[in-house]
Amino acid sequence: MKKTAAVLLAVLMLAMCMPFAFAADGCTCGKAPIIHIYGLGNAVYQGDTVVFPPNKDTILATVRQALPITPALLVGKLKDAQQELFLDAAKTVFDPIAFDANGDPVNGAAARFTYPTAENHKNGELIGFDYDWRVDPFVSAAQLRDFIGYVKEMTGHDSVYLVGESMGTVVLNTYLAEYGFDGVEGVVWYNGAYNGVASCSDSFANKNKFESDALARFLKQVGMNAGNQFLFDLFSALEDSGLIDEVMDSVVSAADDLNESGRFSRFLNECLGTMPGFWALVSPENFDGAVEFAFPTEELRDTHVALIEKITRYHDQVAMHIDELMQTAADVTGKVGVVAGYGSVMPPVTADNLQQSDGVIGTAAESNGATCAPFGGSFAEDYTQGVACGHDHISADREIDASTCYFPENTWFIKYGGHGFSSGGYSRELLNRIFFTDGFNVRSDPAFPQFMVLDEATNTVSPLTAENGADRTMQAGFTAKLFGLLFRVFSRFLKLCKTVTGWFVR
Ligand SMILES: [Zn+2]
Ligand SMILES: [Zn+2]
Repeated sequence: MKKTAAVLLAVLMLAMCMPFAFAADGCTCGKAPIIHIYGLGNAVYQGDTVVFPPNKDTILATVRQALPITPALLVGKLKDAQQELFLDAAKTVFDPIAFDANGDPVNGAAARFTYPTAENHKNGELIGFDYDWRVDPFVSAAQLRDFIGYVKEMTGHDSVYLVGESMGTVVLNTYLAEYGFDGVEGVVWYNGAYNGVASCSDSFANKNKFESDALARFLKQVGMNAGNQFLFDLFSALEDSGLIDEVMDSVVSAADDLNESGRFSRFLNECLGTMPGFWALVSPENFDGAVEFAFPTEELRDTHVALIEKITRYHDQVAMHIDELMQTAADVTGKVGVVAGYGSVMPPVTADNLQQSDGVIGTAAESNGATCAPFGGSFAEDYTQGVACGHDHISADREIDASTCYFPENTWFIKYGGHGFSSGGYSRELLNRIFFTDGFNVRSDPAFPQFMVLDEATNTVSPLTAENGADRTMQAGFTAKLFGLLFRVFSRFLKLCKTVTGWFVR
């Protein structure tokens, strides 16, 4: 009896180990695992403490530092000492995750990521890969290579599918440029940052533009997206009362002061610009100008020579070869896809603030070439498709022409989808179709056409029509009038402060 029990136990234990043992010897499910390379966003730790995103202590310290200069900021005149204070306050946020002049981490702060210990890939589930978004993409790409090796061993497959999301497309492209396409079955670029992210790119190249109507548009959309009448009224009143103009004038004037004194450039070469990860978000067109702006002197270029080498390597070997990498991916794997979002305004810091975006990245950039009507508008009636390929590539709302994309037949758009995998199960379903159906394109499945729209209320995605894709509108309500009154008074007061300050500052 005892012996039978022991044998049974042994058989049971063996059976429990079986799936994994079999898998490691070669899985026969026919679906290579999909590796999902995440976007920028994982927390940075110092020991067990999260130091970025900034914790309460850091935020309080920053506010305390900046508090004495708030009046000066509001009137938009910063003296030298005040500018130093402002710079110090801004640096406080990034100090805990700072990099050195060579572009290497200091302080021992690091992003945490772990390998999965259990996996399920047989139904097209995604296996997530994370990395430290601050580091040189080549470092992350080497980690991805190791991770791919681990996933292959764990699943018993000798190949994988790769999908990069947002900054993950930077790591994805670096991996492909450095290690090639061996064992890669298919590639998808999802809300990709690989052509640059305007808010970062323009900041680094000193091309930022702050406009009050862009800010108002952005804020009102925040209210509209949240379906929040109160927020919408608040922001409408900010605009209608002229207060937003008054504040933006000050912001622009203070920004000009910081710029002219060289302190903005210093903020880059001492702080933000020491992280190679951010440099990978600078568009290829802006790269040279950004290097010049961040390292304006021979001396700075000498002290940062190793850093400049790192960021130039990414620019030269990856960013300048996007089309080639995409073409090779299509030729070698036959299974490629690009997913882009639209229907959201750009963050209000770029000159091109009327371009279509997913709220973070411009639609033209992440789709690698779509022609887009300006935000809030549509193509003129006599507009004809950019490339006459014999198919209709213009969206039903007449805002996007996909015929000019690098992959016109393999680029999908989700209106109001926002940035990232926010569209529920749809993203995974689409990836599964691209990867597991031979020759899948925008005409293969009527449920997955080129243009889709997300209904946030139900978190469902459906094919875009002229009706469900109509631009959102909201009317300012009663509270907007109340706020308007208050803001007009404050706006007058601010104007008076500026005049008085003008008498003393020259
Ligand atoms: Zn399998
Ligand atoms: Zn076509």
